[in-house]
Amino acid sequence: MVTSPVLSHSTTELLSSLSNGDLTSRRLVESCLEQIHLQNPTLNAFVSVDEGYALELADQIDTRRAAGEPLGLLAGLPLGIKDNMCRTGKPTTCGSRMLANYRPPYDAHVVERIKAEDGIIVGTTNMDEFAMGSSTETSIYGPSRNPANPDHSAGGSSGGSAVAVASGMVPLTLGSDTGGSIRQPAAFCGCVGLKPTYGRVSRFGLVAFASSLDQIGPFARDAAGASLVLQAIAGHDTRDSTSLQRDIPAYSENFRASIQGMRIGIVDEHFGKGLNSDVANSVTSTIDALQELGATVHRVTLPHAKYSVATYYLIAPSEASSNLARYDGIHYGHRSEQYDDLVDVYCRSRGEGFGPEVKRRIMLGTYALSAGYYDAYYLKALRVRRRIREDYDQAFDNVDVIAGPVSPTPAFPIGDKANDPLAMYLNDIYTISANLSGIPGISVPTGVSPSGLPLAIQFQAPLFDELRLLQLAAAVESLR
Ligand code: GLN
Repeated sequence: MVTSPVLSHSTTELLSSLSNGDLTSRRLVESCLEQIHLQNPTLNAFVSVDEGYALELADQIDTRRAAGEPLGLLAGLPLGIKDNMCRTGKPTTCGSRMLANYRPPYDAHVVERIKAEDGIIVGTTNMDEFAMGSSTETSIYGPSRNPANPDHSAGGSSGGSAVAVASGMVPLTLGSDTGGSIRQPAAFCGCVGLKPTYGRVSRFGLVAFASSLDQIGPFARDAAGASLVLQAIAGHDTRDSTSLQRDIPAYSENFRASIQGMRIGIVDEHFGKGLNSDVANSVTSTIDALQELGATVHRVTLPHAKYSVATYYLIAPSEASSNLARYDGIHYGHRSEQYDDLVDVYCRSRGEGFGPEVKRRIMLGTYALSAGYYDAYYLKALRVRRRIREDYDQAFDNVDVIAGPVSPTPAFPIGDKANDPLAMYLNDIYTISANLSGIPGISVPTGVSPSGLPLAIQFQAPLFDELRLLQLAAAVESLR
């Protein structure tokens, strides 16, 4: 098999080869397309590919570079974006029959940013339907497969984005993370996945799942790649009222700073029952190695973290039931071909357009928000959410970051949890509380298990402190 320059070059090497002329953007895009042709039939990472656009843009960038014109941060680099980010006139399906024919009339903020920084969007990546899931098995396109072992899950919901990077189809992708959907697939596939602080990246043009939790972030092969993409997409946007008005640190320049003196918190409860021993050992030995690089380790407690799964699975479905009400077959989305009257259009269109997991969430959320149960479920969940956030505030009085597992196990076999929603939901136990609290989190590869599956460590930092996470990612990389 032809090896991909994406696999043999770090992000920094790709950038310098492009800028010194050893590599043209055309050549890089061509070899990414070659990898997609070779590997996508098995791995199912991309659901749409835009070859003509990608090659044409690559040529334009090569010409501008040759003419000495100033170029953007992502100049000439191919990227994939999750299939829930709008691009004018291009398929944006959310892995759902409901949006199978949707072509947005506008670009998402992140798409505008990538274009402005001269990145090349080669296509869209597979995902669980409306980002609800942890394995991409709820996608209408079928599951993505893990490059390390195609019988195993790629994780989800941004599974396609993780596979595309881990297999070398493209060096960089975007995903969205509502309860772990960037970090968990990154951990399963063996790449870096960063969920920024809520509000750091505009959600304008991201198809909403749970608006108070959704956040867009990068997948990359290394800390340099994640820093670069975050630099390109972060920043205030008036079209997202939750977008932060804060300065953006120079991530790309500073992520290599030493971690000397950094205070790492570990949470005893993270290492309890249900945690796979390969995952536990890898996390522990990575933390030991970081101590040798000058970090110090401290115990912290997150007493309410044990309620995070229950809390999330009330809040996220509640928000989803409201967000997905717009898909009625009239304003938006699939319309049934046969119907009797107005109510029948709604019922049939929604019945045909949504898959079983999405329907389950809409029913759960509608129930939790209904008049008789609102206080007992939704409001209570909001109160617990506050407690979870306060636990972090206290913990971060004493430490700079918290380290722990991303997912309780390495990638599970495809089909293993598909018929057991609770087992699937429990998979999110270590990732969800960052979304409930708004704080950033990163998944960094640490090695492979004896059976050859990727292992990872997660770091979480206080609000706005993505830079520290990127520094830790670089430090972990330096250990390998
Ligand atoms: N697995 C979680 C869910 O199904 C998280 C999904 C996500 O982050 N989009 O809701």
